[in-house]
Amino acid sequence: MAYCRNCGSEVSDEAVVCPHCGVQVKELAKTKSGAHIVDSGGFGWGLLGFCIPVVGLVLYLVWRYDRPLTSKALGIGALVGFISSIIIYVVYFIFFFDYLYLY
Ligand SMILES: [Zn+2]
Repeated sequence: MAYCRNCGSEVSDEAVVCPHCGVQVKELAKTKSGAHIVDSGGFGWGLLGFCIPVVGLVLYLVWRYDRPLTSKALGIGALVGFISSIIIYVVYFIFFFDYLYLY
């Protein structure tokens, strides 16, 4: 077990960010595999989340700690995509029920 520098809570050795106070406890580049993880975030990931909100949500949960910038872009994209699809759905049903009422 490691301890958070900020609040002193016990933090899992796997954790990059303290679950208690949210402060980064480990360098992002120095993960257990030692491989350099590309965490660029960016519009492409947001677009992926927007187009496929379910994938965006899953990747957001998986990459929450390892790739905070990328997961944030995915999460925002997924949220926007999800809300947009609900709006489209609602608008569709408004027109659909309007149609039923008239004919
Ligand atoms: Zn902490």
